[in-house]
Amino acid sequence: ASKKEFILTCEGLNKSFDGFKVIDDLNLYIDKGELRTIIGPNGAGKSTFLDLITGRIRPDSGRIEFGPGEGVQLTKMREHQINRLGISRKFQTPSVYSDHTVYDNLLMSLNRNRGVFATLFYRETPADRERIDEILETIRMTEKKQLIAGSLSHGQKQWLEIGMLLAQDPKLLLVDEPAAGMTDEETERTGELLLSLAGAHSLIVIEHDMVFVRQIATKVTVLHQGSILREGSIDHVQSDPRVVEVYLGR
Ligand code: ADP
Ligand code: MG
Repeated sequence: ASKKEFILTCEGLNKSFDGFKVIDDLNLYIDKGELRTIIGPNGAGKSTFLDLITGRIRPDSGRIEFGPGEGVQLTKMREHQINRLGISRKFQTPSVYSDHTVYDNLLMSLNRNRGVFATLFYRETPADRERIDEILETIRMTEKKQLIAGSLSHGQKQWLEIGMLLAQDPKLLLVDEPAAGMTDEETERTGELLLSLAGAHSLIVIEHDMVFVRQIATKVTVLHQGSILREGSIDHVQSDPRVVEVYLGR
């Protein structure tokens, strides 16, 4: 792909904590519409990398560009500005509003784009209802619409939260360990959901579960000590003895 097609360009990224290098001269390129999986042992710097993209922390050096063509430089922007550009992150623990219905959770998320007061006073339009129904179908929870979110299973809460992110029309979705704590069946459905989002969205998914990584079968980046150890298909990276070593040799 030519440079113009990248949704995210990271070059020469560095980040240390107390003199300890967590991100080490990292270069990483994400194509528009791609679903990229990042794997790597504990402490490899995966979550820190997401922190750098979202502006939660700033790199010591290097650049992060968002968008095709002459991308926007993210490294000097604030977290909420980066979010408004269309970068949304899903953390490991779901944070839905437990006392509200699935529908209202999605509505509140849709309203978030309209400002705080709109959240309290805004009545949904037919277009809003249509959008929410669309999202419910995407996350395959149409029949759960009127359930109280607190009563959902762990997996359903995770899907709802992905739906809430979709309500904000993100261009790039960052998802940290979506299959953690899920049953095999939930894991499989999560893989299907994320795959269905690729194309219309670009995604970076961090994951430990190799069955899951194999299921989504996209380009895999192996992060080790803050830089790329290997990149390619899951078969390609798993055939590299160094990859096997960093996973087993700890
Ligand atoms: P991963 O997500 O790959 O397991 P992390 O990015 O969470 O790894 O962490 C990488 C290393 O950076 C770990 O050694 C962790 O302790 C350290 N680290 C992460 N965030 C901070 C922070 N805010 N302050 C100090 N050390 C941190
Ligand atoms: Mg992590």
